[in-house]
Amino acid sequence: RIAYLNGEFAALDQLKISVLDRGFLFGDGIYEMIPVYSHAIFRLDEHLARLEKNLAAISIQNPYSRSEWRRLVVSLVEQQNFADQSIYLQVSRGPAFPRNHAFPAEVSPTVFMFSDVLEAPANLLVEQGVHAITATDVRWLRCNIKAISLLANVLAKQQAADAGVAETILLRDGLMIEGAASNIFIVKAGIIYAPAPSDLMLTGITYDLLIELAEQNDLPLQLGDVTEAMLRQADEVWLTSSSKEILAIIVLDGQPVGNGQVGPIYKRMVSFYQDFKTTVMRR
Ligand code: PMP
Repeated sequence: RIAYLNGEFAALDQLKISVLDRGFLFGDGIYEMIPVYSHAIFRLDEHLARLEKNLAAISIQNPYSRSEWRRLVVSLVEQQNFADQSIYLQVSRGPAFPRNHAFPAEVSPTVFMFSDVLEAPANLLVEQGVHAITATDVRWLRCNIKAISLLANVLAKQQAADAGVAETILLRDGLMIEGAASNIFIVKAGIIYAPAPSDLMLTGITYDLLIELAEQNDLPLQLGDVTEAMLRQADEVWLTSSSKEILAIIVLDGQPVGNGQVGPIYKRMVSFYQDFKTTVMRR
């Protein structure tokens, strides 16, 4: 695996960073995960736009222009000998001493990227759906920032793992927010609902794409508060992310969602999504 660290491409297991890096000491940084299908980078500009916004949100000076970022990611992809990849890209504030919460005066960000084999979700999961649980969202109030400090998400995802299910859906003040590592859509009486973008959830690249695909294909979709009651009475519940794409949740907290089978609107959305992927790969 060829990876990238601060201006250098090298084997992943050769790369080292300082123990004083603020990413390590404070979780002070942001990240992206970008899928690559047959060497075609999926929605690269959308990911880079989010990266730029996140860097600005935590006042890390962006070390590269958009075209430099593009070239680096393309170069990383080209150096791998596998076609479907997941690119992990992280920028932390960089190493500083003494350890001090406030930003250091002189610091240069640590830029790290590596590529791994992207495993598409198994057909069985796409066709038959997954199970999920709910939990209280105990995260901070700036979940729109794709921060590397993911402790609350890690603990929520572990709750899912311990329960033997795929995801934990986070609830805050009676509202459905998102998954531990995904966005959530519901369907009721033929209408798709999802929370509107806010500081309380990450606006997924896949979330944005689903909204576009719904519009293009005349599927009614409403953005706004999704209550816990709406979630529990939904006909369909889906999770979305760059790595999981779209998966139907057919059992929530041990109760069947709708009739307990993947729904018709889910099936249509999956086919729109796969068609979209195919056209991107052909370009
Ligand atoms: N919310 C959270 C908390 C996530 O971690 C992710 C995936 N990284 C998402 C939503 C989905 O984002 P995307 O579609 O950009 O992968």
